[in-house]
Amino acid sequence: MSAVEQQLESIHQQIVNELPRDISVSAVTYEGPELVVYTRDPKKFAEKGDLVRKLASKLRKRITVRPDPDVLTRPNDAEAAIREVIPEEAGITDLDFHEDTGEVVIEAAKPGLVIGRHGSTLREITQRVGWTPEVVRTPPIESATVRNVRNYLKQEREERRAILERVGRQIHRRELSDEDWVRITTLGCCREVGRASFVLSTPETRILVDCGDKPGSEKEVPYLQVPEGLGGGANTIDAVVLTHAHLDHSAFVPLLFKYGYDGPIYTTEPSRDLMGLLTLDYLDVAAKEGRTPPYESEMVREAIKHTFPLQYGDVTDIAPDVKLTFHNAGHILGSSVAHFHIGDGLYNVAFSGDIHYEDTRLFNGAVNDFPRVETLVLESTYGGRNDYQTDQEDSERKLVQLINETHDRGGIVVIPAFAVGRSQEIMLVLEEAIRTGKIPEMPVHLDGMIWEATAIHTTYPEYLRDDLRNRIFHEDENPFLAEFFNHIDGGEEEREAVRDAGPSVILSTSGMITGGPIMSWLEHLGSEPNNTLIFVGYQAQGTLGRRIQSGWDEIPMTDNGRTKTLTLKLNVETVDGFSGHADRQGLENFVKTMNPRPEKVLCVHGDERSVQDLSSALYHKYKMRTFAPKNLETFRFR
Ligand SMILES: [Zn+2]
Repeated sequence: MSAVEQQLESIHQQIVNELPRDISVSAVTYEGPELVVYTRDPKKFAEKGDLVRKLASKLRKRITVRPDPDVLTRPNDAEAAIREVIPEEAGITDLDFHEDTGEVVIEAAKPGLVIGRHGSTLREITQRVGWTPEVVRTPPIESATVRNVRNYLKQEREERRAILERVGRQIHRRELSDEDWVRITTLGCCREVGRASFVLSTPETRILVDCGDKPGSEKEVPYLQVPEGLGGGANTIDAVVLTHAHLDHSAFVPLLFKYGYDGPIYTTEPSRDLMGLLTLDYLDVAAKEGRTPPYESEMVREAIKHTFPLQYGDVTDIAPDVKLTFHNAGHILGSSVAHFHIGDGLYNVAFSGDIHYEDTRLFNGAVNDFPRVETLVLESTYGGRNDYQTDQEDSERKLVQLINETHDRGGIVVIPAFAVGRSQEIMLVLEEAIRTGKIPEMPVHLDGMIWEATAIHTTYPEYLRDDLRNRIFHEDENPFLAEFFNHIDGGEEEREAVRDAGPSVILSTSGMITGGPIMSWLEHLGSEPNNTLIFVGYQAQGTLGRRIQSGWDEIPMTDNGRTKTLTLKLNVETVDGFSGHADRQGLENFVKTMNPRPEKVLCVHGDERSVQDLSSALYHKYKMRTFAPKNLETFRFR
C-alpha cells in the first residue's frame, strides 16, 4: 500500500468514527486539493446540514460528498423533482447529469435562487434525489468563450477526473525532505515590463508563478530552460499558478503542455476563461502576421483541462508543504494576489501580480490583509518617482472633454485598449456620460475581442465591484447592455461605414498598437486631422503605441506583404488615470497599509528606473529590506 493509500485508509476510518452510524462511507479519495467522500446515504448527509462543514474543519480539508451511482434517482425523475424545488424565477437554462460522479450541473440566470439561503435549496435537492448539485450562471450576454469552455470541460469530464485523482495523490504525498528552505528565482519581468515568470521552490516543491510574453518583442521569453525552471524536464514543476489572464502573464502557459507538463494550473474561473480567449487570439494574431505560433490551439485546450479554478479566500493545499490563497488584486477580472503559506508556519510569500490599490468603476481595490507575509513580490509598473497619475475623476473629465471637442468638429475618437479591463472601465465611463448628457448620444463601437471580453465580465459579476454587480443582476440596469454600444463584427466593410458615418467613439484592440483591428483604424482614421487618438493605458517600451505617444507620426504598415508608410495627422492625446495598475502613490499605499507589513520586498515588473525608484523609496520610508532583482537571480529566504 502506498503512503497516500495508507493516509486515505486512516482518513476513511476517522470519517466513519465521526459520522452517525446510519450514514455509510463507501470510499474516500482525493481529487486535486479536495477530499471526495462516497456514500450510499447522500440524503441523510444532506439532512444534517452542517455535517460536511464539521468534517472539513476537523480534517482540515476541503470535502465533497458524492453519492454511490446506484442510489441515485433516475435523471428523468430527478430533473422533474429539481425543477419543482427550484423557484421559477431562477431561470434554469441547462441541467446536466453526470452519472459517474453523481453530480448535476445546473445552469441558471440567478444562481442565488438555486443555492438558497446558506445552501438550503441545494440540500433540499440532494435530500429529494440524491444527486449533488453544482451551480453555474447563464451568461447575461451570450459568450462563445464561456460556452466553449463549459462544453469542452463537459466532454472531457472523464479525463479530467483522472487528472484530478493523479494530482490529488501528488498533493497529498508524504514529504520526503526534512530540510527547510524557500527560494524564489526570477525568470522574467525584472527591470522590464513583460514575460512575468517566477519559480517558488522548497526542498519538496517547485511552483511556477505566471508565464507571459513580452509585448512588442517576440524573442524575449521567460528563461524557462534554466535548471531552476523547466531545465530538468517539464514535470519537475509541481504546479502552475496564474495571477491573471493578461498575455504578459499567461501567453506561454499553454506552451508548458507542449513541453510535456501535465500538472495543474491554479487560477480563478474568469482567469481561466480569459486565458482561453486571449491565448487563442494570440495564436491567431501570430498566424496573421506570418509568424510561427509557439504552440497549437490544442495546447490551450490542455491548459483549460488542467485548470483548477479557485475562489478568492479559499485556502488550498497545492503541495504537501504549500497552501495557496488568492485575493482580489483589483487589476482585471479574476486578477489575484497569490499568497503562499509554506511548511507548517515556516514562511509566507505574496506575489502581487498586477494590482490596482484604489477602487475603480469595475473592481474593489486590491486586498493587502493577510494572516502572515514575510516577503512581497511587488509589481512596479508605475513605481518611478514621477509616476503619479491624475485621479480618476479628473481623467474622466478630460476624456469627456476630448470626446466633445472631437464630436463638435465632426471627428471620430479612437481609443486603443486592452480587450480585458480598460475597455470595460471606459465603457462604464461612456455609459454614464451619455446617460447623464455629458456627451451627446453617439454610437460607441467595440472592435476586436472587446465585446466577447465584456460578455465574460457579465458572467462573473461576483468578481466585480459591489454596486456594479447589483446593476448587472438587474437586466434593465446592466450598463453593458446600453443600446449605443455596437459590436463590430462585419470586418473592413463595417469599419469603412463607421469611418463615413460621422462622429462616434471606437474602442479597439490591441491596447499597445501591436497588431489587431486598431491597425485598420489607424489606416482609416489616421490621415484626418479632425479625428483623435486617445491613449488610456500603459504603453510599453518597444511598442508602436509608445512611439506614437512620444510623437512619431510616420508609421510603417504592412499591406499584402509590402511595407508602406502611413503619415498620422489625427490628434494624439493621452489620458492617464484609467490604468489597471496602481500608480506610485497606490503602490506605496499598498505597502504602507499592508497588514502585516512584510520584511522584504522584491520590486519587479517595471522598467529599470521604476523598480530602482520604488525599491529605494520603500527602503527609506518603511525601513524594509528591498530589492530590484535582475532576471535569473535567486533569493533564499530561510
Ligand atoms: Zn496585467
